[in-house]
Amino acid sequence: MKEILKNPYAELKSSLNSGKISATELAQACIDRIKEVDGSVKAFLSLDEKRILNAAAESDQRRKAGKPLSEFDGMPVAIKDNICIQDTITSCSSKILENYKSPFNATVVERLLKKGFILFPRTNMDEFAMGSSTENSAFQVTRNPFDLERIPGGSSGGSAAAVAASMVPLALGSDTGGSIRQPASLCGIYGLKPTYGTVSRYGLVAYASSLDQIGPFSKDIQGCIDLYSVISGKDENDSTSVNRPSFSATAVSATDLKGIKIGIIKMTSEIEPDVTKAYENVLNQLKERGAILVELDFSKFSLAIPIYYIIATAECSSNLSRFDGIRYGSRKDNTGKLEDLYVESRTEGFGPEVKRRILLGTFSLSAGYYDAYYGTAQKARVLIRKEYESFFSKVDLILQPTSPTTAFKVGEKTKDPIQMYKADIWTTSVNLAGLPAISVPMGIDTKGLPIGLQITAPSFEEGKLFGFSQELSKLEGLNILLPEKIG
Ligand code: GLN
Repeated sequence: MKEILKNPYAELKSSLNSGKISATELAQACIDRIKEVDGSVKAFLSLDEKRILNAAAESDQRRKAGKPLSEFDGMPVAIKDNICIQDTITSCSSKILENYKSPFNATVVERLLKKGFILFPRTNMDEFAMGSSTENSAFQVTRNPFDLERIPGGSSGGSAAAVAASMVPLALGSDTGGSIRQPASLCGIYGLKPTYGTVSRYGLVAYASSLDQIGPFSKDIQGCIDLYSVISGKDENDSTSVNRPSFSATAVSATDLKGIKIGIIKMTSEIEPDVTKAYENVLNQLKERGAILVELDFSKFSLAIPIYYIIATAECSSNLSRFDGIRYGSRKDNTGKLEDLYVESRTEGFGPEVKRRILLGTFSLSAGYYDAYYGTAQKARVLIRKEYESFFSKVDLILQPTSPTTAFKVGEKTKDPIQMYKADIWTTSVNLAGLPAISVPMGIDTKGLPIGLQITAPSFEEGKLFGFSQELSKLEGLNILLPEKIG
């Protein structure tokens, strides 16, 4: 590997700013690393070297002239394949959008470009962000850099694997029910799902609009802080964007572990023993440092997965109706009737998991079933939100393992969608309540695979998440060494 990429993001940033490395050197190092390892990891769906190196050369010129756009000018960031970049294919890893070139930039992309970031599109994902393993991509299966026989998690598995394999220091993903936190956890890196409404969804291809949020991946906490500062803040183009300014790094709260109230969960036999051990290690060290641990009753959350899958599939069946071969999506020619054109374009364009979800969502929204399923799920969603409110009247933060297992083998759960859905047991409720949560490294299991810890805070308290994460990284046994040699 190009030696510089071993460094965490924070060091690369200061090297760029001190002139120790140039944007071109950094971009070239990323390109070389991608060429070295991505043949086996398969995190990227495309690599436009010329465009990347041109952007890096422009960044170097700005710095030479003493006019960098920001302290991030020249910093590479990988972009998930469902975030629109002008004149670039945005396929959502789906055949139906295989040739779709976006005519505009997503708001997050505009904000990155204004600060001089160098974009590395496009990272592989589960088709339309539906999945927990990145096996649902129409194009390729991304592998976990820690063990190529295993999945990287999903749906933003390409972004997580690209960062974990040191191909890029930073990446963006999207999280509807865990798609940033779960792959961050399984790949041993940091991943933030922001408070709903703080990051614009304009230009993010919608999966389930009331749950989707864009967020950052990084090898270190500083990368999440910086990317979140750049991409957050009110956007007129997104009516669900909240009227708040961008996050400021000065809002990262210095955390005193003494006296902090931490909500914890009871471990059950469904959780892998190594995950339980890592969780207990964290809790013991927190207790030694004076944190007050409060066990919370999560029994109402046993319904989070069914509620999530009713709401997410209902919203996706509506959002994906635009891909009909006429308005959007590749068209099946030579069909006699309009109805056939719709049916055949969608039959050819969508993969099996997307079809399953459109069917489920259409069913639960249909007359006669709407109240029983969708209506009930919406009511239950309110209960989950209220439960969190009551938790946060007792504790400052909630700690859970991000996932009950470490990375599983490719193919292990593809035949049983319910088993796959269970990987999201602790992540989905956070989206249902619109809260912010981060996954941070929590150790390694006996197979050498990463384990992640999810920290959840009340709405708009990202500063608390970051401050606490900084303290956690000082504890013993949590840091994870990312693999240099892959395969
Ligand atoms: N695994 C969940 C799903 O399949 C979450 C995906 C996501 O967050 N995009 O819906």
